Amino acid sequence: MALTGLDIFKLLPKTNCKKCGMPTCLAFAMQLAQKRAKLEACPEVSEEAKQKLAAAAAPPMRKIAFGNGDTQVQTGQETVLFRHDEKFHSPTVVAVTVSDKLAGAALQERIKSVEALQFERVGTHIGATAVAVLNESGSADSFAQVCSAVKDSVGLAMILVSDSPAAMAAGVQRVGQSRPLLAGARANTAEAMAKIAKEAGCPLVARAGSIEELADLSEKIKAAGVEDIVLTLDAPTLVDQLYGLSRMRVLSLKKVFRPLGYPTLSFVGNGEAGRQGAMATSLACKYSGIVVLDTVEPWVFLPLLTAVANIYSDPQKPVQVEPKVYAIGEPNEDSPLMFTTNFSLTYYSLESDVEASRVPSYILVVDTEGTSVLTAYSGDKLNEKTVAQAMQKHEVANLVKHRKLIIPGYVAVMSGKLEEATNWEVMVGPRECSMLPKYLQEVWK
Ligand code: SF4
Repeated sequence: MALTGLDIFKLLPKTNCKKCGMPTCLAFAMQLAQKRAKLEACPEVSEEAKQKLAAAAAPPMRKIAFGNGDTQVQTGQETVLFRHDEKFHSPTVVAVTVSDKLAGAALQERIKSVEALQFERVGTHIGATAVAVLNESGSADSFAQVCSAVKDSVGLAMILVSDSPAAMAAGVQRVGQSRPLLAGARANTAEAMAKIAKEAGCPLVARAGSIEELADLSEKIKAAGVEDIVLTLDAPTLVDQLYGLSRMRVLSLKKVFRPLGYPTLSFVGNGEAGRQGAMATSLACKYSGIVVLDTVEPWVFLPLLTAVANIYSDPQKPVQVEPKVYAIGEPNEDSPLMFTTNFSLTYYSLESDVEASRVPSYILVVDTEGTSVLTAYSGDKLNEKTVAQAMQKHEVANLVKHRKLIIPGYVAVMSGKLEEATNWEVMVGPRECSMLPKYLQEVWK
């Protein structure tokens, strides 16, 4: 819980020297509690008080990064239980397993399948962001070899999964420079695993079967010198897992219980592919920072990644595209010109249907603050004036020699006023952009 003004006051020198610009230490403490002043403004505060205040001001959930350079991912740093209270900060890291039982062609095939889990959706790139090497062989050598092979071929952050400190040390020796996440330390291996993690500068996963054990384990690992910790709750069922992760989130954010103030990692097992996808999506909702799947079926990942992208978008900000003229194909002065709004989903749906029509076209994107056609029209952000202004601003008259503008069928009602405002002929397009290919091929002239 954040410190109150009185809590802070107790840590100040209480000399009322005014060097901070405040008349009293109490006034300064109140300003500090409201984040209107910085502790550095008091030159008299002791080192001990500084450390206590810095610890109290630390975010309730630590941010953990692993991988490096282009492959680096981060998890944690969450501040709210519900997305609508603010937003979620670190999109769930979606990881795929590679077993160290694989070798030769089978290993290469698995690596290829993992690499293929990248997609374009609504103009955005989404994909698996980590690969988890599993020490299923029981051999430290095999583990180290597969870790090396994966590091050399897959451009993703790595998670090293082994219960054996010897295998973990062998894996870290090969790929430690890429700062993998080490998963993980159990009660009986905490000391050895923490030593490996500390020496390699890698974050470490604490694994236990109950919240209480996890809290004890994270404290033990921290005391051994590892600050970057991720928590795995090994619960018997998905319901237990969701319940446990929700309790952990409440304890870390609402009670600022530091031993649980870390992001979480969940393994969804190696069951049927669709079930893995459903479990991973549930866990991404509440509240797993990293999910590890065994399947490499693309049809499992696309909906999972789409859900993650939606959960982690900022609810205050609609996803927008830049308002301007987009050329689809290689349009010329005789090509059709149409407009839509800068709501990302609306634009990319239209773009994909125009591409499907194979009729090179111009799309004028009108700035409606990221709202869809009907929402913008009903909120008066899309009207004859805003469209005419956008046409002028983006100089569409220089792009085409005809004076025809195709408008979305849903706002056919604005045709008359738009013709008056622009002196262009307005052609009413279809209501659904899926009908646009037919329209462009048969109606547009
Ligand atoms: Fe108190 Fe420090 Fe301000 Fe002096 S500078 S009044 S000691 S808070």
